[in-house]
Formats: sequence, structure tokens, C-alpha cells
Amino acid sequence: MAKETPYQVLVRDLPTQRRFEVPPQRVGEWLKGLPVRDALGAPDDDPAAGHGVAELELYADGAHAFAAGTFRGELTVACSRCINPVTLVIDEALRVTFMPRHEIPDDGAEVNEEDIDVFPFDGERIDLEPVFREQFVLTVPYAPLCTETCKGLCPQCGIDRNTASCTCEPPIDPRLAALKGLKIPS
Ligand SMILES: [Zn+2]
Ligand SMILES: [Zn+2]
Repeated sequence: MAKETPYQVLVRDLPTQRRFEVPPQRVGEWLKGLPVRDALGAPDDDPAAGHGVAELELYADGAHAFAAGTFRGELTVACSRCINPVTLVIDEALRVTFMPRHEIPDDGAEVNEEDIDVFPFDGERIDLEPVFREQFVLTVPYAPLCTETCKGLCPQCGIDRNTASCTCEPPIDPRLAALKGLKIPS
């Protein structure tokens, strides 16, 4: 049986309306291992990792269960150029279908027609943890930026070029360096 989490609802309690809160500690745990999160060097219990609130209607029709509502929150990752913190906002409508594992198509999370997310269902309880986790993970872009014009860090001295400047010269192309050392035999 799946590990107990605060995000499970027993089928016998359906239909129901629920509000769920995701605390920073949980967000930090879910994003751990993502390079743009680890780059911040934040502690495991980082209070600024992010948070979320889901307001959901939950119901079932026998073999399937459904969740519909909203998910709002935010999370903090590192700018991919200057590694300063960037806050990303989540404000999504959620529509999730829970179905037995053997009914879920092999090719992934989305089932034909509409854009409906599908998650596995054991018939006894709805587990919303993977749903909430996905909200955070899918919000992280490949290369987050603090601003479109972020100047990044100096590749030589590491100074943040947004707030300071340095006198580093750009490195000399190694092929040119080789030429400079070349002695022409006389
Ligand atoms: Zn930046
Ligand atoms: Zn520099």
C-alpha cells in the first residue's frame, strides 16, 4: 500500500470539497535534485521554497474518481544566468481523472480528446500527492531567468554583472594563444 500522506482522500468520503495546503518543506523536498533548485544552495527546510493551495471538488463514479478545481502557489528556483532566486507563480485550473493502472494508456498522462490529466487509482483512496507535485515540477522552465536581460555572472571572477562590474578580459581563444607562442624559424 502507498505511503500515507496528507493528500489522500478515502473513496467512501466522496463526494466532498476539500482544501489542501502544501507547505514550503514539502515543495523543497519535491524540487530537490533539479539543478535550478539545487543551485540556490538552500537548506532542506527552506521556508522560501514555495507553497501551494488546492481547492478541489472530489467525486467518483465507481471505477473512476475525479478532482476539479484550482491550484495556486509559488516556488523559488535559481536564475540560470546569475543564480539569484526567481519566484515562479502557479495559477492553474485542475481537472484530474483517477483510473485503475491497467486502463491508463502506456504513452502517458494525457488521454485523447480534452486536456485531462490521468493518475492511477487503487479504488479505495485518491492520492493527490503526485498531482500537486506535478504542479510544481512542471512549472519549472528549462532555463529560468530573473529578467529577460539578466547579464549573468562573469565567467572569470564570478561577479554578478547585474549589480557590479569587473575588469576581467574575455579569455583568449586557445587557438590564438597557440599562434602567439609560435616562433617562426629564422
Ligand atoms: Zn539572473
Ligand atoms: Zn570578472
